[in-house]
Amino acid sequence: MSERHEHDRGPHRVGQVKEVTSLANPIVKDIKALAQKKTRDETKTFMAEGLKLVIDALELGWAIRTLVYAKAAKGKPQVEQVAAKTFARGGLVLEVSEKVMSAITRRDNPQMVVGVFEQRYTPLKDLRPDAGETYVALDRVRDPGNLGTIIRTADAAGASGVILVGDTTDPFSLETVRATMGSVFAMPVTRASVADFLRWKKEAGVKLVATHLAGAVDYRTIDYKGRPVVLLMGNEQAGIPDELAHAADALARIPQAGRADSLNLAIATGIMLFEARRHLLSLDGSE
Ligand code: SAM
Repeated sequence: MSERHEHDRGPHRVGQVKEVTSLANPIVKDIKALAQKKTRDETKTFMAEGLKLVIDALELGWAIRTLVYAKAAKGKPQVEQVAAKTFARGGLVLEVSEKVMSAITRRDNPQMVVGVFEQRYTPLKDLRPDAGETYVALDRVRDPGNLGTIIRTADAAGASGVILVGDTTDPFSLETVRATMGSVFAMPVTRASVADFLRWKKEAGVKLVATHLAGAVDYRTIDYKGRPVVLLMGNEQAGIPDELAHAADALARIPQAGRADSLNLAIATGIMLFEARRHLLSLDGSE
């Protein structure tokens, strides 16, 4: 990525907004390159679209590298505020034409505001689940839309984190971040190999509930109230491999009718999450 802007050092100093109209601008090229996983991996950054998302991310303490806003958003108080915060945290602020915004977001009707943030993963060793906590573990999830929807649903159900087991799709791709609707900033995401995940499972003393089409246990009959629970969900094509299934404390199945072979992964995760946390959720939002 391009070098950072100079820090805003004094209370009266504000950074300089860069006006950009050319697609050939090197900073614009760097941001566009974030569409590729290779660039995201190298820079350890990603892009999030929308003013609300950027405000939430800044509030939650995510490090912003670059704020981009469309010329039409200039002067809006909330945009001015996020620009000031970006400068204060040493980031760069760009005011761009609609053409540039469309190119960055690859959309005809782009959002007015885009932020480039540093990626953040919670290390597995830092996950120390307590009673009443629920985690989702995803075995080799492939589809960015599924992953984003699961992160959003885990957030809505009050889960404590999402663990990506094995080789999975990138939680910081544009498609995944879009599907999270902002929950990527609220839900801790962890990566683990199968071996590390199984070791952690033992040490952390969690109850591992694996979902399986051949599961013998009706998911509604499981006790989710004792130990902290990890819901393990299988790959979209292959389901859960034997190595993981054997380590589970229960193999749960969601009964189905009709002709469908299985449920979509994100839907199955949603059903499991809300059942596992049913005793903890109420309409007034209290847990
Ligand atoms: N062909 C795969 C198989 O045989 O397992 C189908 C995988 S399914 C699309 C993806 C994941 O969603 C499964 O591994 C499981 O975790 C979950 N899932 C889908 N339907 C389910 C059901 N009825 N009961 C339990 N889990 C289910």
